[in-house]
Amino acid sequence: MQSNTEEKSSMLAVYVDKPGGPEQLHLQTVPRPQPKHGEVLIRVHATALNRADLLQRRGLYPAPPGESEILGLEAAGIITSLGPGVKKSWRPGDQVMALLCGGGYAEFVAVPEELLMPVPKHLTLVQAAAVPEAWLTAYQLLHFIARVKQGETVLIHAGASGVGTAAIQLVRLAQAVPIITAGSPEKLKMADKLGAAAGFNYKEEDFSERVLQHTEGRGVDVILDCIGGACWERNVRSLAMDGRWVLYGMLGGKTAEGDLLGKLLFKRGHLLSSLLRSRSLQYKAELVRSFTEQVLPHFLTSGESLRPVIDSVFNLEAIAEAHRHMEANRNIGKIVIKMDS
Ligand code: NAP
Repeated sequence: MQSNTEEKSSMLAVYVDKPGGPEQLHLQTVPRPQPKHGEVLIRVHATALNRADLLQRRGLYPAPPGESEILGLEAAGIITSLGPGVKKSWRPGDQVMALLCGGGYAEFVAVPEELLMPVPKHLTLVQAAAVPEAWLTAYQLLHFIARVKQGETVLIHAGASGVGTAAIQLVRLAQAVPIITAGSPEKLKMADKLGAAAGFNYKEEDFSERVLQHTEGRGVDVILDCIGGACWERNVRSLAMDGRWVLYGMLGGKTAEGDLLGKLLFKRGHLLSSLLRSRSLQYKAELVRSFTEQVLPHFLTSGESLRPVIDSVFNLEAIAEAHRHMEANRNIGKIVIKMDS
């Protein structure tokens, strides 16, 4: 039996026994993190899945040096204590959501104060857990990397993914025009509900033909591309002259065979790429600050407000099932994991 002190210094977390499939995920009692200088400790109410978790579980995307090896890039919960030197006015008891470098699949996580955001008034902690990674990624790609402008057309691949559902709404908020690709009628329907001006099933038709039809031959100003290799040629075809093609994932492979450079040069295209997790604390702090100021006030209850799209909620014990659900590409929006059943 655990003593009271042991209970207070330990927690439940998901551990990966050895790199591999979802069956390698197990609950384990581990030491509770202590908040270091400038960090706060959060009791996690909910976390959410990201594609990167599947790669990390398979040993293909290790945690950055010095960061928690526990999976989980985001969390929502309640502050339980502050480390030394916390400057902002966070207090124990505050409801927060946080961007993490890891450690979200656990009962407690320690987070630099710069990566915390207040939970918007009308969101539950389960909804809030679906915000940080997907929304900050989409916001970063659109505003820090592509520098999207009012009136531009943005093609978003995987339009019903966690990142895609956020990106559609953020493109609308920027008064630009989102169009998307997805792999099923249900996914296209969700994108339409969120405000996509058009959606194409890439499994049934050549999306580049439809994009050119939709834009009257002009092409799109920006592409948010998490597919990579498999669709490079259709991407370049879809791009307007001087367009920006932002690569941020490789779900469709890493290699591009053929006349990529020639075709891109002919369009005077800009190929940009970005990863969020490996960015400096300073960069992420600026991203969180900008998002908090520009976007969080638009998570309201009604009207044109923004909303995280939740596909499903699993208990922590069902973590392997949740991973299988994502791996099968079944989710529309985010898969959330609740800590306490
Ligand atoms: P998600 O919710 O799991 O959605 C991914 C969707 O992509 C799948 O449901 C599937 O939808 C589609 N897809 C999968 N394989 C595909 C393929 N070969 N070709 C075309 N579509 C395919 O994903 P997420 O967590 O939002 O992440 C989306 C992407 O963003 C991932 O690539 C992830 O690695 C990337 N990401 C990057 C960063 C960064 O900083 N660079 C940060 C966060 C996420 P369909 O049924 O429509 O095919």
